Amino acid sequence: MTNETETTRRAALVTGSSRGIGRAVAQELARAGYDVCVNCSSEQGLPAARELADALAADCGVRTLAVAANVADAQEAAALVDAACQEFGRVDVLVNNAGITRDGLIARMKEEDFDAVVGVNLKGTFNCCKAVAQRMMKQRFGRIVNMSSVVGVAGNAGQANYAASKAGVIGLTKSLARELASRNVTANAVAPGFITTDMTAALSDKQREAMTERIAARRLGAPEDVAALVRFLASDEAGYITGQVICVDGGMSL
Ligand code: NAP
Repeated sequence: MTNETETTRRAALVTGSSRGIGRAVAQELARAGYDVCVNCSSEQGLPAARELADALAADCGVRTLAVAANVADAQEAAALVDAACQEFGRVDVLVNNAGITRDGLIARMKEEDFDAVVGVNLKGTFNCCKAVAQRMMKQRFGRIVNMSSVVGVAGNAGQANYAASKAGVIGLTKSLARELASRNVTANAVAPGFITTDMTAALSDKQREAMTERIAARRLGAPEDVAALVRFLASDEAGYITGQVICVDGGMSL
C-alpha cells in the first residue's frame, strides 16, 4: 500500500550522472528529496553509478536506481526511461546531461567524430525527451532540463561538432517548451561555461590560466554551480520559466 508521501514524491532521471556535472545534479536532487535514477553509458561505468546510487539512498533516504544505457541509441534511451518509471512509478524531472567531445579543426575532423558527438549530445537528448514527453503530458507535470553549453551559443574553434550539437539542443529545447507548456511541462537549457570535470581535465595549466582570465568571476566553475540551477529549474517555483537558455559561466560570455 502506498502512503501519501510516496505517491506525491518526485522522481528524477539524470543522464550521464556517474561523473562530473551529472553526478553533482543527482546529488543535489537527492538532497532535495527526489528519487533519482543514475545513468552511465555502459557496463564499465556501472560500479561508479551503483556506488553513487547506493550512497544517495543511504544518505538522503530516497529511492535510487543505477542503469547503464547509451542514450544515443533510441531503444536504450527508451528502456532507460521505462526502468526509471517502473522503479519510481513516474518521472517528473528529466535532466539530459550525458555528453561527449571529439575536438578538432573542421578540415581535419573525421565524419565519425561529428556523428558521435551529435549522436550523444543532440540525438541522445531527443531520444530521452521523446520517451518522457507523453508521460509528462499525461501526468500534467514535468521538468526537462537539457545541458547545452556557452559553446552552443557562441561557437568555438576546434569544436564544430560539439557547438553544433549544443546549438541543436537549444533549438530542441525551445520547440519542446512550445509543445509542452500548456500541460505544465517546462523545458529549459542550461549553458555552462568552463566547469572542472573529466571533460575539461585535459587542458594544460597555461590553458586554464588563459581561460580564467576570460571569466569575470576569475575562477573556473564547479559542478555544484550548475547543479544548483538545475535544482531550481526542476522545482515547482520555476513553473513559469520555459524555453530559456541560462548560462552558468561566471560571466565568461558577457
Ligand atoms: P564528463 O565528466 O565527461 O561526464 C560525462 C557523463 O556523461 C558521464 O557520466 C558519462 O558516462 C556520460 N555519458 C557519456 N556518453 C554517454 C552516453 N552515450 N549515454 C549515457 N551517458 C553518457 O562530462 P561533464 O563535464 O560532467 O559534462 C556534463 C554535460 O555538461 C555534458 O553534456 C557537457 O557537454 C556539458 N558541459 C560541460 C562543460 C564543462 O566545462 N565540463 C561545459 C559546458 C557544458 P560514462 O561514465 O559511462 O562515460
